[in-house]
Amino acid sequence: MDSFEDIIGQDEIADYFRRTISRQKVSHALILNGEQHTGKGYMAKIYAATLQCEKGGLKPCGECHSCKMAASGNHPDIITVTHENQNSIGVDDIRQKINDDIILKPYYSPRKIYIVPEASIMTEEAQNALLKTLEEPPAYALIILLVDNKERMLPTILSRCVTLNVRPVAQESIREYLKARKSIRGREADVAVAFARGSIGRAEMLASSEEYIALMNDITNLLSHIRDMSISEELDFIKKISDNKETAVNYLDVMEAWYRDILVYKSVEKPGMLMFLNEQTQIARAARDAGYMEISSVLDAIEAARDKLNANVAAPPVFELLLDTMRDKAVTNSL
Ligand SMILES: [Zn+2]
Repeated sequence: MDSFEDIIGQDEIADYFRRTISRQKVSHALILNGEQHTGKGYMAKIYAATLQCEKGGLKPCGECHSCKMAASGNHPDIITVTHENQNSIGVDDIRQKINDDIILKPYYSPRKIYIVPEASIMTEEAQNALLKTLEEPPAYALIILLVDNKERMLPTILSRCVTLNVRPVAQESIREYLKARKSIRGREADVAVAFARGSIGRAEMLASSEEYIALMNDITNLLSHIRDMSISEELDFIKKISDNKETAVNYLDVMEAWYRDILVYKSVEKPGMLMFLNEQTQIARAARDAGYMEISSVLDAIEAARDKLNANVAAPPVFELLLDTMRDKAVTNSL
């Protein structure tokens, strides 16, 4: 069963959890604040399971009845608050699932813990309803709000909760996690880490998305031998990426990361700093062959292409021009 030791890159939060348990100062209301897919729900569940464990230690024992119920997601006193409407949590959700329920004593454990995912989509009315409970929570209650947009929370709610901010996780830690826990390595790991924006959940999602992996393979192949590409290969490629604007923009992100790597390698020659760790040979060769001016003009061209796509210019001419620029600047070398 996972415990605080399994929380990666969020030491402050894990320490807070441990401290509140060892000092017996568990708050009645917590906010876990951070972007989507940053493990807020995961951390909340570990905290809840630890608090409910019958052994009362700093980690869930995994053997007691409470731990078994927590692990299976069926603990009667660890309640995940769901909502009917996809885009908002309404006042009825809060009244029925928290306010009316919290007054009933815990069923099995000493505490009753509510986890509210997506709490920032609570309507103002819902937040005001919740406020009533937060003003006088029963001694056994703990409410954990998972929030990805703190701006949408009423100041009165914020002032009654302890807020814990999720931090971006270091790239190296994400890479280690993917390798050790998910056996994801190589190019897939590189790209997932590069585009994870410090989020383990996002890295994992990217690395296990077949669509994303296919996209990465396409693009690294293209960038590795752009000089030798035939007209028909180029047209095929352009056709493929032009089908959908979102994909086209993703391609630009990857291209940008690739050329940034070339630039980094040229300036410092430290392979450890590269996003595309596994394409080191290609990157090194390109960095050797191209001047700073050429690399930065390709980066400018990528930026200009992005602006055009955002302004709804059709993708094919945008990519045609971009690929021409890349080839002219000969920033990449052939395989
Ligand atoms: Zn236990």
